[in-house]
Amino acid sequence: LVNLEGVNKHFGTLHVLKDINLSVARGEVVVVIGPSGGGKSTLCRLVNRLETIDAGKITFDGQELPAEGKALARFRSDVGMVFQSFNLFSHKTILENVTLGPIKVRKVSKSEADKRGMELLERVGIASQAGKYPAQLSGGQQQRTAIARALAMDPKMILFDEPTSALDPEMVQEVLDVMTGLARDGMTMMVVTHEMGFARRAANRVVFMAGGEIVEEAEPDAFFTNPRTDRARDFLSKIL
Ligand code: ATP
Ligand code: MG
Repeated sequence: LVNLEGVNKHFGTLHVLKDINLSVARGEVVVVIGPSGGGKSTLCRLVNRLETIDAGKITFDGQELPAEGKALARFRSDVGMVFQSFNLFSHKTILENVTLGPIKVRKVSKSEADKRGMELLERVGIASQAGKYPAQLSGGQQQRTAIARALAMDPKMILFDEPTSALDPEMVQEVLDVMTGLARDGMTMMVVTHEMGFARRAANRVVFMAGGEIVEEAEPDAFFTNPRTDRARDFLSKIL
């Protein structure tokens, strides 16, 4: 579904991504891990075209990412993104946060969007909170709202950038459970996370990034039990 070929990215003189080759197949769940500053967030932002690339090629569904205009807006709506900070609209209710995109971008009627929105809130386990405002919800509930909002656009893929890093420990699992459900249902996902339990359970592939490079790429079991590189071994010894 997504294919990166020889992708490079600089911020000024800083070479943040170096010759990245990576593809994510339809229905695949790829977990990206690695030390801080390694380029994980930048990689997500490139795939969603929140950043442009300096060299190389990224295709989605066989097409190069559109540069601007309607085609870009259309492409962005096909790729959901869930951030560490939930980025909900604070003056809108939970249901409104979920239905806004479909109504504005997809031109779905309000009644239709409300119906689908409630189904999605049901799916992430917070239908009873639909009329509340984000500040009235726990962090875990807010992040589940953000996931429902992403799903409301019927995305072809969802990018998650450390979706549980801002949560209190007791709320991490409820969000990971929702994500595991999506993975089981066949959603194409790229997930930056430090949750190794999730990676083992839900990922088809683990990508270890450090210093702007993909250092290692493997199936979760192989990666966690027998990392091939010293850098991966060293990283795992620090976080496990
Ligand atoms: P973390 O685990 O801390 O989230 P990361 O792997 O997501 O790290 P990135 O956020 O992609 O890393 O950052 C990679 C490098 O690029 C870092 O050195 C960072 O300081 C730099 N960087 C990221 N965004 C920008 C920007 N907009 N302008 C300049 N430098 C940036
Ligand atoms: Mg990051």
